[in-house]
Amino acid sequence: MGSSDASAGPIHMLFFPLMSPGHMIPMVDMARLFATHGVRSTIVTTPLNAANIRLTVDSSAARGLPLSLRVIPFPDPAATGLAPGQENLSAVSTAHFNTFVMALFHFQAPLAALLRELRPDVLVSDSLFTWTADLALENGIPRLIFHGAGAFPLFVLSNLVNYLPVEPSTESFIMNGLPHPIRLYKNGLPELVDNLFMLKLLGEAEAKSYGVVVNTFHDMEPSYVNYYKNRNQAGIKAWCVGPISLCCRAAVERAERGESSADRGRLLAWLDSKPAGSVVYVCFGSLCHISGPQLKEIALGLEASGKAFLWVVRREAAEDAVVEAEWMPEGFEKRVEGRGLVVRGWAPQVEVLGHAAVGWFVTHCGWNSLQESVCAGVPMITWPLFHEQFINEALVVDVMGVGVRMWEGFRRNRLEEAKVLVTAEEVVAVVGRLVGGGGKEVEAVGRKAKEYGEAARKAVEEGGSTYEDVTSLIKELDAKRKEGQKDV
Ligand code: UDP
Repeated sequence: MGSSDASAGPIHMLFFPLMSPGHMIPMVDMARLFATHGVRSTIVTTPLNAANIRLTVDSSAARGLPLSLRVIPFPDPAATGLAPGQENLSAVSTAHFNTFVMALFHFQAPLAALLRELRPDVLVSDSLFTWTADLALENGIPRLIFHGAGAFPLFVLSNLVNYLPVEPSTESFIMNGLPHPIRLYKNGLPELVDNLFMLKLLGEAEAKSYGVVVNTFHDMEPSYVNYYKNRNQAGIKAWCVGPISLCCRAAVERAERGESSADRGRLLAWLDSKPAGSVVYVCFGSLCHISGPQLKEIALGLEASGKAFLWVVRREAAEDAVVEAEWMPEGFEKRVEGRGLVVRGWAPQVEVLGHAAVGWFVTHCGWNSLQESVCAGVPMITWPLFHEQFINEALVVDVMGVGVRMWEGFRRNRLEEAKVLVTAEEVVAVVGRLVGGGGKEVEAVGRKAKEYGEAARKAVEEGGSTYEDVTSLIKELDAKRKEGQKDV
């Protein structure tokens, strides 16, 4: 049973994010969003992850938001098989992703103890913590699921059962009966589709949960938001709480979001020196592994395009890391000096996308990156790598019309061994044509991107669709708490 007695003030929501930037960042934003609506919001995470978000939490609290942080230990390396310090998926090599996912089962005892101590009214759990469904039931509180992905990929994935198993000989198929013809490629489906054990746990946990909170807004994917909200699965409800990055209204909030970037000042000053819309921003998210030969083709392509670029090269986990000396073309940074900037590690992405100089975004189509681009009204050049990114690409290009593919047809897929190099010439052709370009294609995509950016802002304003969803969810949770108290 939740915390408070009937006379208590605001409801208390406990947020338990998956330790991965693409899930932690939006969940922290979400906790802050609910706190701005007066909800007492507590984020639970492990010591190293807490260090990354403490500044955000403390400064929000100092500005008067009821936001706080609770730290629980990361399970012992002896039990998980992970190395000490590997508390975040971004610190783990791709080969060990599964080990990390299995380690999540070791959080059951500390979270149970925390629930007993804090007695929150609601648990917002990442979907991968499937066991939190039973924990919430035992504590008599509703569990809300956060998947990280949007309504379109979630709906497409839930609809996929009608198409599985995909015949071995099938390369691609069209998902029928949707407002848009969606072509899916077998090898572009998320890895999870093959993990029957996890799929079963996810399905069972969802059936025991109260609802789903989705980082999207109605007008971005209206048909799919409606499909997803109305899908008939054990009465599970869904609420749109996005675009979650727009809850960082103040410049200081945007600056504090995510990991700190040592290059922030330098790269924002560099962007200040560039004309509006002239720069292509290239970033593949927080988990990507890109081979040395592919990095080299990207470098040569950006150089030969003649366009201004800001390129984030990720610092990968040691086992994945590609040695720079082996791929960086000789003299590359010297030759592109002034026109191109390579950032090693982390860029303040929301601030970069919001800068007037950025005209296009080469993206891996991670859900957060996609949303952040939409919010900024920046069109995308799509380069999906894995997870549900090939499905997201279809949304960006075929449904919303706010992006252009880096390559046509299904040349690359999520399987590392099957990745076909995208050549420098192809990068030149697409980047050269689009960035700073004119013509019908560029104008149409650019106009749509701006329209969606405007719609995103309206959604989060008072009276907007997201605002309404968030306030009605809070009312419902409050009513549920009072109902629970009557039953005691
Ligand atoms: N991000 C960032 N700077 C970087 C790389 C990533 O701020 O240099 C942020 C980005 O803004 C987004 C998140 O990390 O909020 C990545 O999430 P996404 O869903 O796009 O991709 P993932 O990393 O999960 O593949």
